[in-house]
Amino acid sequence: METISSLGLLLQFAYVVAGGLFIYGLKLLGSADTARRGNMLSAVGMLLAIVVALLDQGIVEYQWILIGFVVGAIIGGAVARMVEMTSMPEMVALFNGFGGMASLLVGWAALSTAGGTFTLVTIVLSILIGGLTFTGSLIAYGKLSEKLGSGAVMFKGQQVVNSLIVLGIVASSVMFCIEPGNSQWLYLVIGLSLLFGVMVVIPIGGADMPVVISLLNSYSGLAACAAGFAINNNILIVAGSLVGASGIILTQIMCKAMNRSLSNVLFSGFGSVSTDTSEVEGEIKPISAEDAYYVLEAASNVAIIPGYGMAVAQAQHVVKELCELLEKNGAEVNFGIHPVAGRMPGHMNVLLAEADVPYDQLLEMDEINPRMENVDVAIVIGANDVVNPAARDVESSPIYGMPVINVDHARTVFVLKRSMASGFAGIENPLFYKDNTRMLFGDAKESIGSLVREFT
Ligand code: NDP
Repeated sequence: METISSLGLLLQFAYVVAGGLFIYGLKLLGSADTARRGNMLSAVGMLLAIVVALLDQGIVEYQWILIGFVVGAIIGGAVARMVEMTSMPEMVALFNGFGGMASLLVGWAALSTAGGTFTLVTIVLSILIGGLTFTGSLIAYGKLSEKLGSGAVMFKGQQVVNSLIVLGIVASSVMFCIEPGNSQWLYLVIGLSLLFGVMVVIPIGGADMPVVISLLNSYSGLAACAAGFAINNNILIVAGSLVGASGIILTQIMCKAMNRSLSNVLFSGFGSVSTDTSEVEGEIKPISAEDAYYVLEAASNVAIIPGYGMAVAQAQHVVKELCELLEKNGAEVNFGIHPVAGRMPGHMNVLLAEADVPYDQLLEMDEINPRMENVDVAIVIGANDVVNPAARDVESSPIYGMPVINVDHARTVFVLKRSMASGFAGIENPLFYKDNTRMLFGDAKESIGSLVREFT
């Protein structure tokens, strides 16, 4: 029987501590006021895991690890500093992709010491999932950053081609497990999984890309988990499972917020053709900051609904200023936060937290909607799709069925945006033409700045 040395026991115990830190850190990430601490605890857990892995695995040569560490830290640190908040999903896509590639390489390297069939299966899984995560994430990055066209790419016979690729992957994986010494099967698995990553992401439209990124995040976790089994490393299995599970939960939350099923997101080609045939009635009624001020000054209940445009304009600080002025004027002010406002989950919460808006003023969609009829003025700041009443009223609309914030039920609606351009879904918004809507055109930060100046 194999005996575990006391050093081995200590190392396993350190892995358990690191795993505990990951789990507790994830729990703290669930609320905005504890999220920073959660992030820090998880990072400490990762550091511990890395140190233990370096001691545990009988490393032959530290020189390359050190070089990789320095290069990685410099690139990661510089990119994280430079990235705009609005480009965060693209960066997450790249991270997922590299995570997938790392698992592929770990699986491949494990082949040199592989023993039984179980290990071979885990190796094939880490290579397969890692490979498709890598290319899928690169395509997702290209689409989100608009380096590639952001629309869905569909062609005749796509399902047949995809089915053939899947068949090829299954066949070559089985052959690899039977004949691990014959490297052509391995190369086939690698090539087909890289191709499959491209094929599964191209038919998905730009608006659905954040959901796909969350799904790929989950895949990168599963690939890491398989790699953990391949090299028999417990902490990799634990960390990979946590990423895999949390990614899939987030994917489900996002799908639910858009009232779509995951299969609809993955296979419907949303965005490849426009099905928006609705005619919009009414006319646009612009308003000046001065006139908007008079209405706001008389309001006793104000709801602010932020969207992607608030992030673009970086208007959160001046929004907070306006909020304080309205409260000083005797109005009750609440924020209505749609779960998919902006370009990533929690985007609005992060920005408003940065501006020190109290958490209890942020109401979720289900909380603010029943109050909307008592709201004197709803101020929509750079939001479009998440306040589009067509999602509720127009059956032919591509976003029909997506729950939205019912700002049109307020007595007056001010919409702050620069033009009549559409939002992420690329569709017309009947809200802008409603009798009780006034358009305050201009950059959101400048428009709110003008309102603040009117108050002071
Ligand atoms: P939208 O993308 O629908 O609209 C943003 C609006 O902001 C645009 O109409 C734009 O109009 C305006 N805008 C841009 N820059 C400025 C500026 N500087 N000042 C003022 N206005 C500006 O955003 P929403 O937040 O309403 O909706 C998010 C969309 O993203 C939804 O379709 C959602 O499904 C999708 N999505 C989001 C996810 C998430 O996790 N948050 C995940 C998946 C999808 P103009 O150019 O005229 O100024």
